[in-house]
Amino acid sequence: MSIIIERFDKIKSNIEKFSIADSRTIVAVSKTFSLDHIMPLINYGHMHYGENKVQEAESKWLQIKKEKKDLKLHMIGKLQSNKAKKAVQIFDYIHSLDNQKLADVLAKSQKNINKSIKYFIQVNMGNETQKSGISYNEVDAFYNYCVKEKNLNVLGLMAIPPNDDKTEEYFKNISELNASLGLKNLSIGMSSDYMKAIKYKSTHLRIGSLIFGERS
Ligand SMILES: *Cc1c(COP(=O)(O)O)cnc(C)c1O
Repeated sequence: MSIIIERFDKIKSNIEKFSIADSRTIVAVSKTFSLDHIMPLINYGHMHYGENKVQEAESKWLQIKKEKKDLKLHMIGKLQSNKAKKAVQIFDYIHSLDNQKLADVLAKSQKNINKSIKYFIQVNMGNETQKSGISYNEVDAFYNYCVKEKNLNVLGLMAIPPNDDKTEEYFKNISELNASLGLKNLSIGMSSDYMKAIKYKSTHLRIGSLIFGERS
């Protein structure tokens, strides 16, 4: 059996121990890896993959998405509004919705091709300048803008917490903010912290290196 599948199954069983009733999606983050490397997991039946660049996603996934209709692609990286139109064509989920201009272009682009993308609003939990995301105290207003003005299907919030020892605190805070908005889905947790994310009700775990190996 492929090492990739062994690793995937291990993660899945770890998650399932904690998730008797509710459903969780593992977004297998395949950025930088070739389709050859990813293929065993696709053939195994896993259907959710994450990429962080529009161009890379397009060249890697366009063809295989035509063949496998159940495949779902998640955009997890920073999205520039000039690439939003292309992103809408290839992706099914966008986890990095973080400003009004982007929301405007996405709303228009998905309407033009009659497609309904699922969104997560990215929150900059530590107000870090190097990270994108809407700041914590602007989430409420931005959420209302996306949903009421733009009719976007926002599933929940998304965050990449600062790289310090307060991960659980950030997860707890975003989980509470998510619940206060009445949202049912939450995109938190990566290779190093997915078990913590589960504790705080993550539904979409974005896991890359722990499945596919280290990226070069
Ligand atoms: C690369 C990436 C991941 C996956 O990271 P791993 O540590 O390899 O699991 C998750 N989320 C985002 C936004 C990423 O860019």
